Amino acid sequence: MNFQPEQLYDIAKTVSVNAYAPYSKFKVGAALLTEDGRVYSGVNIENSSYGATICAERTAFVKAISEGEKHFTAIAVYAEGEEAIPCGICRQFMYEFAPELMIITGKTREEINVRSLNELLPVGFSLKGEDR
Ligand code: ZN
Repeated sequence: MNFQPEQLYDIAKTVSVNAYAPYSKFKVGAALLTEDGRVYSGVNIENSSYGATICAERTAFVKAISEGEKHFTAIAVYAEGEEAIPCGICRQFMYEFAPELMIITGKTREEINVRSLNELLPVGFSLKGEDR
């Protein structure tokens, strides 16, 4: 990984201010690192229809994939005041593209944890499509 975990964490923190979270007030930022060193950021975007809400992690993936990216190495997730662990939907969403992804989280920059997606989602669902 060209990036240090702290660098990705800092980007996730910086973009978290852009989160649209008027209902939960829980602003989350994510920074997704591609194999070739590009970083795509994302924030959570809530909706009056709660089910239409999207998490920061998936926002970052959607941005990256729509720009043609397919290979990812790490994602940092930040929320103020607590360690933001990816939810179950995001774990499965990310598993589709990067089962080996490294997940960087932490309440603060000094308390960063790095886990693999396989650790957070040991047996993810996959149709084993040929387009991966
Ligand atoms: Zn999520």
